[in-house]
Amino acid sequence: MTTLLDIFKTMEYGPAPESPAAVEAWLDEHHRKFGLFINNEWVTPKGAKFYPSYDPSNGALLAETVQAGQKEVDLAVAAARTAFESWSKTPGVVRARYMYAIARNIQKHHRLLAVLESMDNGKPIRESRDIDVPLLARHFFYYAGWAQLMETELRDYQPVGVVGQIIPWNFPLLMLAWKIAPAIAMGNTVILKPASYTRLSALLFAEIVAEAGLPAGVINVITGSSSAGSMIVEHRDVDKVAFTGSTDVGRILRRQTAGSGKKLSLELGGKSPFVVFEDADLDGAIEGVVDAIWFNQGQVCCAGSRLIVQENIAPRFIQKLKTRMEHLRVGAPLDKAVDMGAIVDKTQWETIDHWVKTGISEGAECYQPNIKLPENGLFYKPTLLTGLDPAAATVQEEIFGPVLVSLTFRTPAEAVALANNTRYGLAASVWSDNVNLALDAASKIKAGSVWVNCTNLFDGAAGFGGYRESGFGREGGKEGLFEYVRPAWMDRPQPDFKLDESKKWGEHVPARPAPPTIARANGHDLPRIDRTPKVYIGGKQVRPDGHYTSSVIGAKGQIVGQVGDGNRKDIRDAVEAAHAVIVAKQGWAMRHGYNRSQILYFIAENLDARNAEFVERIVEMTGRTKKSAQAEVDAAVERLFSYAAWADKYGGTVQETTLRGVTVAVNEPVGVIGIACPDEYPLLGFVSLMAPAIARGNTVVMIPSQRFPLSATDFYQVLDTSDVPGGVVNIVTGDRDHLTKTLVQHEDVDAVWYFGSAEGSYHVEYESAANMKRTWVGYGLPRDWMDREQGEGHEFLHEATQVKNIWVPTGE
Ligand code: NAP
Repeated sequence: MTTLLDIFKTMEYGPAPESPAAVEAWLDEHHRKFGLFINNEWVTPKGAKFYPSYDPSNGALLAETVQAGQKEVDLAVAAARTAFESWSKTPGVVRARYMYAIARNIQKHHRLLAVLESMDNGKPIRESRDIDVPLLARHFFYYAGWAQLMETELRDYQPVGVVGQIIPWNFPLLMLAWKIAPAIAMGNTVILKPASYTRLSALLFAEIVAEAGLPAGVINVITGSSSAGSMIVEHRDVDKVAFTGSTDVGRILRRQTAGSGKKLSLELGGKSPFVVFEDADLDGAIEGVVDAIWFNQGQVCCAGSRLIVQENIAPRFIQKLKTRMEHLRVGAPLDKAVDMGAIVDKTQWETIDHWVKTGISEGAECYQPNIKLPENGLFYKPTLLTGLDPAAATVQEEIFGPVLVSLTFRTPAEAVALANNTRYGLAASVWSDNVNLALDAASKIKAGSVWVNCTNLFDGAAGFGGYRESGFGREGGKEGLFEYVRPAWMDRPQPDFKLDESKKWGEHVPARPAPPTIARANGHDLPRIDRTPKVYIGGKQVRPDGHYTSSVIGAKGQIVGQVGDGNRKDIRDAVEAAHAVIVAKQGWAMRHGYNRSQILYFIAENLDARNAEFVERIVEMTGRTKKSAQAEVDAAVERLFSYAAWADKYGGTVQETTLRGVTVAVNEPVGVIGIACPDEYPLLGFVSLMAPAIARGNTVVMIPSQRFPLSATDFYQVLDTSDVPGGVVNIVTGDRDHLTKTLVQHEDVDAVWYFGSAEGSYHVEYESAANMKRTWVGYGLPRDWMDREQGEGHEFLHEATQVKNIWVPTGE
């Protein structure tokens, strides 16, 4: 028997168990069998199949839930559609009141939700009680505020419609909050599918929502396997899909929704760096590591799973870390004094173990503390792998468990390079007492959230989401609202096309060039002096790699000129040039907005100086009236002025999070953007897309209008005379789809904007899944580029930027 004296000697924690009684009573009330939650009612289909939910810490069966099929998905979508008719018209102030009621009801059920979450998922009650559930309430309060303000603050937007939301098992309640709260705030209705391992808290939440009096059909919860998820994604009447989960499934969803006109946001995996500089408060950083990788047993998308320590302090830091690991307590999730609970499921436990063995076979030294694990249940020791090569699979791949890999660096530049040496970009943590160094690293690391001297902080008021293969779209903050709205002028895109399987998309056979034209001068027939513009790469005109040209046919069938017929190699060269100028020390993205605005004004000035020439060219190519062409050129000049204005007015905001300190949302450039322009307005379409991209620090590879490319090739000289650094704007003429295909398949292109056909839009979205690049496509639908609402503004700026939230605590 342990005596009081023993306790004083060891200072060991005793068990401090939370009671599961209230949860057991709730499960019993439902006879431990749950239906689907549709239209505020429990629906159990006849002959339904059920799926068991277990407590991973002891294997106890908690309850069974329905496996939904197509009929049930149809029912839920129909309920959400009917509810959308009235919910989308319900005044924002009324929606806010409902959301406030939900938030209050969450608070009243705080303990029940927390205990259920811990029992179903295995996470320590300390976390579910103090982090998950408070954040759940916080999100509903925060977005109740945006519902209240929508009519004034987002008056140019409308709700998207019926939204299908699919979430993972690591933070079942928090993920649900991130998805549902902004969606219903903006007047959408939802069908949510929780992950199979953790279905129960979403069902309790649904009950809490109905008790709060939310109208039927606004929130529907469907339980089921991945196939039910797939049915939601594919459903014709779903207008948007919001997904959080693995990058592999994200890729499937990107392909499934391609060309459908559905909005899509993807919050995917990560392998986030945790960078410790030599001057960091090492003890603080050690506690940071604990929170970064052993929070929720490491099953955290933004877990700081790659420790990157400055070489001269690495031995001391690793020793301190090992000592700290010896004091971590792994045990029953309902024990209030444990640091780590159970792994969610046996399959996940085996995956983690497999990765640790892989790490060892890759040469890692594996350290696990000498601590006791409970005899039964899915527990895993906190694990540290050192001595790995940066390219090792264990260093590159997401393990999603309590496993930390460690690397070292010598210089700050090397730290940033290592931090960015990943296909992901979800989050990062930077530790240094030198504010200049820390913020410099924070600005250079490519990730959606960067925590300075802190880690894993979340709040309703700050967006969260990825760069690169960590996905696109943001959840949280004002930026999170844009996933759930559409411009007021835009109907739900319903692209109309039939996929031609017999043809390979983007195939192109160069045509023979037109013969030289003969003009009569001074009584002689003379061939006209040929002026065939080349392609424009790195600020220079270069001959197209394939040495082919194509003819530009005017409105009357006449040949009005010839242009280079670009190919894959030209696109690759253009991407290289665009990259070189963005990453250089004084690169385009690093210049201040004032400088970029000056250059945009200069472009406008030089275009206007040649106004008449551009008007004439449009008339010659398109056969439109001079008045109409004049209006286009004037609008292009004005648009350049607009983005010169925006170049230094869209930098970001200070977010009002619960952090004592500052959380800054920075609107960073996306990177290299490939842009395929529309045919309707050869000059204005080109300028409307190029200007917002470069104003916000991106570099571009432009594919001008395929039919009328000469306005773009005339633009070379405008660029040449306007101080635009070579490589910021690259222009490759030729077959739109042929060239776009290379852009969208290129690993070093960060986003593709495509305003060609509906079928081309499908291919762009489909192919982009390879490296999860962002896409913005027109689905071949009309857009009035002359109209200021449709041709410029926030939608364009939103596409040209990605939000990074930098968290900096202040005080001692
Ligand atoms: P997952 O296997 O991708 O599953 C996520 C959800 O998608 C589950 O509800 C799953 O249903 C469903 N699903 C699976 N295949 C599907 C398909 N073909 N069509 C439609 N739905 C499908 O991911 P997980 O293992 O649950 O979660 C871990 C991953 O989530 C990690 O990669 C982690 O980094 C990521 N994550 C990201 C964030 C973020 O904000 N970026 C946050 C949390 C987690 P079933 O459960 O029924 O299979």
